[in-house]
Amino acid sequence: MTNTYDYIIVGAGTAGGVLSYNLTKSGARCLLIEAGKHFTRETFPTAEADASAQMYWGGGIEFSSDAQMAFLRGKLVGGGSVVNQALMGRFDDLALNDWKDESGVGFFAMSEMEPLYEIAESKIALHNFKAEERTRNGELFVEGCEACGYKWHFLRRAQKDCAFSKYNDCIACLGGCHRDSKQSTLVTYIRDAEKDGLKIQANTSIEKIENGSAGVTLYGVSDDGKITYTAKNLILSGGAFGTTSLLLKSGFKKQLPAIGRYFATHPQFMFFGLYDELINAHKGMFQSVASKDPRFRKRGFKLENVFAGPASIAMLYTGFGADHLEYMKHFTRMTCAEVAVRDENAGEILVDKKGKMIVKKELTSQDKDRMKDGVGVLKEILAASGAKRVIESPLYFGLHLMGGARMGTDPVTSVVDPDFRLKNQKNIFVCDSSIFPNAPGINPALTIMALAHKLSQQLTA
Ligand SMILES: Cc1cc2nc3c(=O)[nH]c(=O)nc-3n(C[C@H](O)[C@H](O)[C@H](O)COP(=O)(O)OP(=O)(O)OC[C@H]3O[C@@H](n4cnc5c(N)ncnc54)[C@H](O)[C@@H]3O)c2cc1C
Repeated sequence: MTNTYDYIIVGAGTAGGVLSYNLTKSGARCLLIEAGKHFTRETFPTAEADASAQMYWGGGIEFSSDAQMAFLRGKLVGGGSVVNQALMGRFDDLALNDWKDESGVGFFAMSEMEPLYEIAESKIALHNFKAEERTRNGELFVEGCEACGYKWHFLRRAQKDCAFSKYNDCIACLGGCHRDSKQSTLVTYIRDAEKDGLKIQANTSIEKIENGSAGVTLYGVSDDGKITYTAKNLILSGGAFGTTSLLLKSGFKKQLPAIGRYFATHPQFMFFGLYDELINAHKGMFQSVASKDPRFRKRGFKLENVFAGPASIAMLYTGFGADHLEYMKHFTRMTCAEVAVRDENAGEILVDKKGKMIVKKELTSQDKDRMKDGVGVLKEILAASGAKRVIESPLYFGLHLMGGARMGTDPVTSVVDPDFRLKNQKNIFVCDSSIFPNAPGINPALTIMALAHKLSQQLTA
């Protein structure tokens, strides 16, 4: 099947959702292609394990080549914005200045990014947590921080009506929001764009792209078999793994040697505090407070108070039998917090001869030092809040997948020009977390949306 569109956008996630909305609104004929399913709040799986299997790549989880780091990434219309925690923070001067220095891109500056953040924030409902909404899990984290003299803050989340005051405690955010409270691109941008004529092709994975005189040809696989599309302009928004592996499979590495390199994840290490009192951290909200200590920012880590649903908590403690039973018996008396490291971008995304993605992501010695520093502080906080024991999960995670097709002026160390064009390709654009020059140490989603607005402005102009 061959169709011609003004824009084909591959990847219906955070960036793809914003771009498809803005371009469709401008009158362009757009097709949004997504490898995963098109769920609604009525069809999200209700069991935690089913949600993992159906809404994430790898049937729930993917691993680095040495099986040390676990990656989570959404595979559905809405992408990461449906399964994430929806914490929305702007980058600070430290992050933007580092980006500018490393990439040579002039608009990585607060004066240029601020108006884009404002546009991104204007389309979604944002909620600043308040003291009365804090769970006991959050309270103990704050008590520990204050006892140790560390600064903390309430988080800001993209949510409309979680109804905490009405005792709603669905705690199902990572499996899609059954209330349409979470402001994913699925329920904000994409739903509105569909009303304006956006075409969505879900369950379709693009495996290869070719640029020719007739436009860009995309070769994919859908439920109906092999599929071919032609676009005047192509926008790659498949995320760090999706976009990078597609470029590698399409043979661009010969011209652009930096494809796949400079990959970072903000590695996250999970810790559980055991208390005598009943905490019930699985009721209420996942996360409402985090560290905000300028000393931690300089030292390259942050601490966030978090708690997942029962199946995920069980998986975070590997093992079996009596030992695992003993751990889960304490489920209602546990708090959980994570150390997230601002890591060096030393990882690499590759594909093997069969097109299978391989991710190399070892911690560098600086990453390990930052992790140990953060763990030391977190243990101090847990002890100060009365934890009788601290349990460490042997797994650590990469949820913020960044780089692989990074933006910059240098053709040797970057892949995408400052105008979002794949180098040497007039009509192939890249806009998602793959273009990040390095790890900012701050939640990425709002900045991904801001960058998608920037590219939208450029294209609609
Ligand atoms: C559990 C979890 C919690 C998180 N919490 C937060 C948070 O609180 N705050 C925050 O800022 N960030 C958070 N993140 C990270 C954030 O969600 C991502 O950084 C962000 O969604 C990335 O946006 P993106 O547009 O680059 O890609 P994505 O949103 O991942 O979208 C890419 C889409 O492209 C599709 N795709 C990929 N390849 C292909 C292909 N070849 N063909 C067709 N489709 C393809 C994918 O299926 C996916 O839907 C979290 C992530 C996870 C997994």
